[in-house]
Amino acid sequence: AKACLENKALATYLAGEDEQYQRELTIISDLTAGLAQGQFHLEFQPKVNIQTNVCRDAEALIRWQHPDLGFIPPDEFIRLAEHSGNIGLVSEWVLQQAVVQIADWRKQGLELKVAVNLSAHDLLNLQLPTLIQDLLQQHQVPARALAIEVTEGAVMKDPQTVIAVLQVFKNLGISVAIDDFGTGQSSLAYLKVLPVNEVKIDRCFIQDMLYNQNDTMIVETTIALSHGLGYSVTAEGVEEQEGIAYLRERGCDVIQGYVYSKPLKANEFSNWLQAFNQANSSAPNENHSKP
Ligand code: C2E
Ligand code: MG
Ligand code: MG
Ligand code: MG
Repeated sequence: AKACLENKALATYLAGEDEQYQRELTIISDLTAGLAQGQFHLEFQPKVNIQTNVCRDAEALIRWQHPDLGFIPPDEFIRLAEHSGNIGLVSEWVLQQAVVQIADWRKQGLELKVAVNLSAHDLLNLQLPTLIQDLLQQHQVPARALAIEVTEGAVMKDPQTVIAVLQVFKNLGISVAIDDFGTGQSSLAYLKVLPVNEVKIDRCFIQDMLYNQNDTMIVETTIALSHGLGYSVTAEGVEEQEGIAYLRERGCDVIQGYVYSKPLKANEFSNWLQAFNQANSSAPNENHSKP
């Protein structure tokens, strides 16, 4: 679990400080225009229920192909968008794209629940629930087809307010997941009163769980604790085949990781899904994991 504590701003050390500063300025000043100019797209990563071998969920992940800088990882520009006050624009764009995609899939007969990541700042935007409701209505998408993910860290910035806002989302019928669980200094007292449906165990605990006894303990305990509180459990970042059986035996509900698929463009995702569900419907209790 050492990886959980590593500084994400590693890039600052790799590039020189000036170069890094220039890059950040460029990212901040190009973000809004880039959104309008079609430099962004969403990718979708399957979330597979390992108890039933069925995939009905996906997480939407934003991608930015910058004309000069090339691919910019979301971890980098989301943080800058948060600091520069542009995150609201990004989130509205993501929500709009995700709902349009859900509607599109529904027209093709694919009933999926798509999760969108929101930032701490979004949760303090009192207009957001109404905006989302309007979007859903406009595209005739039921609220149960949308989920939101908020990190444990975002919740802990202002737990009282965030709990109230998450309750509003839940009341609308939108599922709520707590993301990157285990990395955000949350207290157990809050976990018990959070209006969430799902806990996502952070990848840093998952990646070594087969080899590191401490991580094994953390994963097992988190599953037990979450189930005890009535939440579904998703393991993020499973890369190895062995991880599937391991987590299934321990009662974990869902896996999201490269072992099934990396994030995919919308049309690749629906191809993957069709192949996966076909391969698994013929023998529903077999341990198939790849199409
Ligand atoms: P996250 O929400 O925890 O998303 C999971 C990240 O883990 C994604 O990285 C995904 O590609 C990666 N991942 C999934 N399975 C595996 C695996 O098996 N191995 C490895 N090594 N990685 C795996 P990505 O897409 O780079 O996103 C990073 C973070 O950026 C996200 O973490 C989320 O916090 C943020 N992010 C991405 N899209 C959005 C967005 O639309 N809005 C906001 N606010 N944040 C976003
Ligand atoms: Mg997420
Ligand atoms: Mg996560
Ligand atoms: Mg993350």
